[in-house]
Amino acid sequence: MRKMKKWISIAGISVILAVAPMTVWAGWEQTDGNYYYRQEDGSLAVNTTTPDGYLVGADRVWVAEKQEGGGYVRTPYDLEPYRYDPDWRRYIFDEDTDYAWVSDNHVLAAVRGIIPVTDLSETSRLVYDEVCSFLNGFDYGASDYEKAKRVYEEITNRAVYHEGAYEQADDEVYSILVNGTGKCVGFARTFKLLANAVGLQSGFREDGAHMWNSVYIDGTALTIDTSTIGTSADFYLGRVISICPHCGTENRFGNRVTEQPCNGCGIQVMNPKYQ
Ligand SMILES: [Zn+2]
Repeated sequence: MRKMKKWISIAGISVILAVAPMTVWAGWEQTDGNYYYRQEDGSLAVNTTTPDGYLVGADRVWVAEKQEGGGYVRTPYDLEPYRYDPDWRRYIFDEDTDYAWVSDNHVLAAVRGIIPVTDLSETSRLVYDEVCSFLNGFDYGASDYEKAKRVYEEITNRAVYHEGAYEQADDEVYSILVNGTGKCVGFARTFKLLANAVGLQSGFREDGAHMWNSVYIDGTALTIDTSTIGTSADFYLGRVISICPHCGTENRFGNRVTEQPCNGCGIQVMNPKYQ
């Protein structure tokens, strides 16, 4: 709830600024869904921490909500709040919703050159080193599919699921990348961190018992789970193309989707893979 209040307060400031007179105010402005910090000299703050303690990147956009004492931060992709559904007793995330752990966001900010590496904790510095070694020689010109597959394979090649009793370390990126083991939260955090680092939009999905990821491939959110044994990136990211028998429209199915409404006529059509 603390996070939610803070978010609202940021939104509140921007609303006040929008109706303020023409005087140059120092404070937050919202343009096209992004937040910028207008400084007293009229320029937008760049690559720094604002006077009220928030981080803006090299592109002048607010990077993440700063929150003391750990927990989650919202990321620039996260323009929708997530909510608790009392009926299902779980948190609901829509496809546009995204959040991240504070320490993971610090690592990402350092990878992007927004904050100095010296700002990282000792553990985060080690994670940073692992992320940089993964990125060394990475083909940023690859397709979203190939990028997501590379991230998936990097994680599944170097870490195995920890079958023993839960330990705090199981939830940490450090454990996945350095110790080579962890549980679903650690896997999901690592996937998001590496995916974001190579420029993919990725978020968390969870149902209270398990956590996995969403990843955007060519604008479509797909489900991917690096902690499940015996699967492959293609299983999650693959696409089946089929012509609608009713109207002839081409439809693309996710590998795991059995049926969906036709893009052309709306009639429910089967994924040929499951026919
Ligand atoms: Zn159709």
